[in-house]
Amino acid sequence: MSNPTLQAVKGMNDILPEEAQLWLWFEDTVRDWLEAYGYRNIRMPLVEPTALFKRAIGEVTDIVEKEMYSFEDSLNGDQLTLRPEGTASCVRAVLQHNLLYNAPQRLWYAGQMFRHERPQKGRYRQFHQIGVESLGFAGPDIDAEQIVMCARLWKKLGIRDVALQINTLGDAAARQRHREKLITYFEQHKDALDADAQRRLHSNPLRILDTKNPAMQELVSHAPKLMDELEADAIQHFEAVQAILLQHDIAFEINPRLVRGLDYYNRTVFEWVTTRLGAQGTICAGGRYDGLIEQIGGKPAPACGFAMGIERLLALLQEDGMAAPAAPLDVYLVHQGEQAQGLAWRVAESLRDAGLKVLLHCGGGSFKSQMKKADGSGAALAVIIGDDEVAADAVTLKPLRGGGEQERVGTQGLAQRIRELTK
Ligand code: ATP
Ligand code: MG
Repeated sequence: MSNPTLQAVKGMNDILPEEAQLWLWFEDTVRDWLEAYGYRNIRMPLVEPTALFKRAIGEVTDIVEKEMYSFEDSLNGDQLTLRPEGTASCVRAVLQHNLLYNAPQRLWYAGQMFRHERPQKGRYRQFHQIGVESLGFAGPDIDAEQIVMCARLWKKLGIRDVALQINTLGDAAARQRHREKLITYFEQHKDALDADAQRRLHSNPLRILDTKNPAMQELVSHAPKLMDELEADAIQHFEAVQAILLQHDIAFEINPRLVRGLDYYNRTVFEWVTTRLGAQGTICAGGRYDGLIEQIGGKPAPACGFAMGIERLLALLQEDGMAAPAAPLDVYLVHQGEQAQGLAWRVAESLRDAGLKVLLHCGGGSFKSQMKKADGSGAALAVIIGDDEVAADAVTLKPLRGGGEQERVGTQGLAQRIRELTK
């Protein structure tokens, strides 16, 4: 009996070559976009000490309570976690290497994140984010820059139907006052709280506002508003962000219930949301997190960042019928005989030197079967090398698409001739 085929872990997807083509195009686009704003790439490990996420994200959050892939290193007993997001790792790296020593930093990263959630459309256990972090900036200009740059990316990608929601979470004192009022309010309505909310009532009442439970929407909509507690500084900061958005014709909605899933945010928070992905409509989310750097052991410094979910963005593009821009082969090289093989290899390498995309047939077979493969390869031309060609130090060129005559070309002028034919 043969072994059963092993399958990928649930919620962790293979990205097959055809789709990967779209990913490559997306990654190139994103990279140009980030460079246009002067952001520099940083790469962190996929695995971090569990304590980092507990401290950064907060113990009473969905991620830390139930979504982390945490395990003990069987060799030394260390408590480790597959990163569920990038901000904590990025800040850890910046502090560990003292990057804020004499200049603020504009950084970006891309890669896998891991969360043990119920897999569904737009929600996976391994997914990918592009993360952008601006560290050491206190003013509203950087918050606005991040939002403006998102708008530019949507335009570049041709994404419409995505709306911006913003809010301010104020500063620590206002949040503390708001927190106390929330606890009092929810205590008065304890019977209407679901189990999650009951549990969070004293540990993290702000998160109750983030509930997705329809039965609690009414209660939540009448809860005390943080807006009413904000200090003048925070209001000014928020207004300055809005002024820049207005200058750039970026439409937004102020959503006072936008609190974000993680604990570390303060002041500006924002989300870009589409109605086209069902409940998984948030494609990009972020905000200011002035307290985080100190919280994970650094000298206090303000910061702001956002992350976008690549799967959700690509799902939007695919819904619009966006296919990967093709990167077709120029040449499929067929050859038969020992001497022909030697020449075929030399020709293939020299064509690649000339910048052409060449697939050299491997695995032998008749000319006829090789030509079939050439036809199916999508290449523009077949280069054919047999004994006759070796004797003449030449090749036969055969157009595979759009008709055209077969011709004999010397190896010297070959790259030039291929260029002319594929122009
Ligand atoms: P949600 O409310 O959808 O669970 P979140 O608040 O947990 O989102 P963030 O931690 O802010 O999400 O992550 C930023 C972005 O990463 C999200 O807006 C989304 O596009 C994407 N994302 C988050 N979790 C997943 C997931 N499990 N699968 C795919 N994409 C995800
Ligand atoms: Mg989530």
